[in-house]
Amino acid sequence: MGKLISIVVPVYNEEDGILEFLDNELFSVLKSLNYDVEVIIVDDGSTDKTIEKIKSTKILNDFLVNIIALTRNFGKEVALTVGLEAANGNAVIMVDADGQHPVEEIPKMLQKWEDGAVIVTAVNTGNTTKHKIRSKIYYKIMQMMGNKNVMPGAMDFRLLDRIVVDEFNQLTERNRLTRGLIDWLGFPQEYIKVKTKGREKGRPTYSTKKLAGLALDSVVSSSRTPLVFFGHLGIFITIFSLFFGLFILIEQYIMGDPLNLDWSGAVAMSVFISFLVGLVLISQSITALYISQIHAEAKGRPLYVIDKKKSFVSKNVKR
Ligand code: UDP
Ligand code: MG
Repeated sequence: MGKLISIVVPVYNEEDGILEFLDNELFSVLKSLNYDVEVIIVDDGSTDKTIEKIKSTKILNDFLVNIIALTRNFGKEVALTVGLEAANGNAVIMVDADGQHPVEEIPKMLQKWEDGAVIVTAVNTGNTTKHKIRSKIYYKIMQMMGNKNVMPGAMDFRLLDRIVVDEFNQLTERNRLTRGLIDWLGFPQEYIKVKTKGREKGRPTYSTKKLAGLALDSVVSSSRTPLVFFGHLGIFITIFSLFFGLFILIEQYIMGDPLNLDWSGAVAMSVFISFLVGLVLISQSITALYISQIHAEAKGRPLYVIDKKKSFVSKNVKR
């Protein structure tokens, strides 16, 4: 039949708002779509009644809903990864469960997709100050680190075409910021402007501290820029002090100080020390690049663990 759209929803301790979100907001949008729809809910180790609540939603009766429960809290980024891997759709839409992402924009995203877009990213306009500052900091860091292909205010609320999802699923790094990785893939993006809403129920668990940590992680794990920077600094210092030292040597000790600069032994000594510091920086940077290679290779452990006993698929549907 028609095309299949996957909706990926990460949830963590959302017992207060999950019913409202699934049965009212998401349900009414999905009802209006002319597509086959599957909903993939990734329970990121909730310790409250979230799963029980999901079991009682009416969305289960009308759509294929795949609930994947992780054994513990792995973090939103990993939860999104689990959802993207499980998704079968021709297009996949990621959306938060706390009501902050305006699901009523989904038809607009799908329209852009039908018009040929492979990534449709929602960009936040009507913003809380906290979110604004947060995303400013994140994008400053990303741009400083040479990732030019990022849009301030871009959110995780995105539609990805199958070709993008397939590429995303090939990525193996452990420290992942989903947005960052999607930007890194380099596919062209289309944007829609949306206004996020305040969180309806429950409390944000995804703290600013966590996000800053993730941005740093993704810099350290995906960017060699800082390592290379110190290497370059070392090369600069070494060359500079080498020439400076040679100049002092020739001017004072070989030519007998014709310029009357009267270099002291302390100056000569400091130049020699900075020469050595430069060498140390270079060799450190080389070591760091080796370690970054090893880090890239060390991917033995799985990224997540699924609790098969808690996971289930809504019954009524085909497949
Ligand atoms: N979430 C998750 N695992 C976590 C933290 C959050 O799956 O460890 C989910 C959460 O249930 C919500 C979404 O990720 O659906 C965004 O979380 P939150 O509202 O806390 O983040 P913020 O809106 O502050 O970025
Ligand atoms: Mg939120």
